[in-house]
Amino acid sequence: MDLKNEIFQAIQSGDVTKVKGFLSGIQDVDLEDEHGTTLLQTAAFKGSLELCKLLLDMGADPNGGHHDSSYSTLHFAALSGNPEVCALLLEAGSKPDSLNTVNRTPAQMAAFIGNHSCVAVINNYVDKSYVEYYTQVHGQETEPKLDRSLLNPLHSLVNLVNMHPVKIIQFVSKNSQMKNHLSSIVKVLTLMSEKEMKRGKTTNEILAFKFHYISHMLNLLLKEESSDLTSAKEKFQSTEEYIIRLLLLSMNGVSQYQEGVIREAVKLYPFKETMTFRQLLTSLSEKPTVSGTPGYLIVDSVVNGQKGFYDDMYCATCGEMSKTHKKCIKCKAVQYCSKQCQKLHWFVHKKECEILRKTGRTTEKELADGVNQMQVKEN
Ligand SMILES: [Zn+2]
Ligand SMILES: [Zn+2]
Repeated sequence: MDLKNEIFQAIQSGDVTKVKGFLSGIQDVDLEDEHGTTLLQTAAFKGSLELCKLLLDMGADPNGGHHDSSYSTLHFAALSGNPEVCALLLEAGSKPDSLNTVNRTPAQMAAFIGNHSCVAVINNYVDKSYVEYYTQVHGQETEPKLDRSLLNPLHSLVNLVNMHPVKIIQFVSKNSQMKNHLSSIVKVLTLMSEKEMKRGKTTNEILAFKFHYISHMLNLLLKEESSDLTSAKEKFQSTEEYIIRLLLLSMNGVSQYQEGVIREAVKLYPFKETMTFRQLLTSLSEKPTVSGTPGYLIVDSVVNGQKGFYDDMYCATCGEMSKTHKKCIKCKAVQYCSKQCQKLHWFVHKKECEILRKTGRTTEKELADGVNQMQVKEN
């Protein structure tokens, strides 16, 4: 078998190490197979976020390829059913309005086969020019509302698929520019939300809510930074770490602070006559329980059209979804997207982990049910 075939096969099998090895030996990263499909398109069809990132980093063309039926890279991603891959490609510049030979866009193809979360990601994608507007001087202004250096990070932030508060705070904590301009980012997000509601027929309610929701999470940081409760925070390296701890803290499997923050974000949403608001209000009206769906997933289902909740696929810290997360080797009941997330969660998982191991229970929910039963007996 020649090298070309081998690379395509390695991508199809999802073997990242193998692909990396082969890639170092090729000249053209936009290599096509006999159907005119590129390596990136093959990785997108496979739904592999890691391989798509790798190929894009190597300079693969997000709009490349000469597929027999004119499928674009985004068409392939839409078919894969992985919304994160769709988001990555859009951010890299894949065109959402490309048509295949039967005149269907990527979002239409995704809808056709029932990949609703891909449809939502493509339809709610925020173009860079949208954010760029705020980095320019308009009308009477002497300076733009947003520092130019914030264009790329804010653009990525508003296109985040994962709606977990920890994920949003982690995103900001990794970017010092964002940390320095928190209040102007919050202001711009509020303006973006209002602007979205004033578009008349083209108003996108979901985006308006998403902007508000993200700004609410950033506001937590702002408020905490200006508060003088320094003694509570002193133990932590940063305000972000302190907030993340609060968000993760759980009692019997329920993160009360996190659930409260999400409900507050919905309550403070100014556009109360919208479907999005009513839908969220109804879904979040009940008190959070261990057997109920976590609030961030309810927001996720409204914002991203995500359906179903698979306990064993979410990072216990930041809610990132993947089939390949590493399980806690001690209890095998929870999983994490990274070492960092596992470390962050240990202060709350430590005790659970021990009980899980001792009782042989396999999920956090079972654990909490066990704890609840014990409490009922004691009473
Ligand atoms: Zn994580
Ligand atoms: Zn464990």
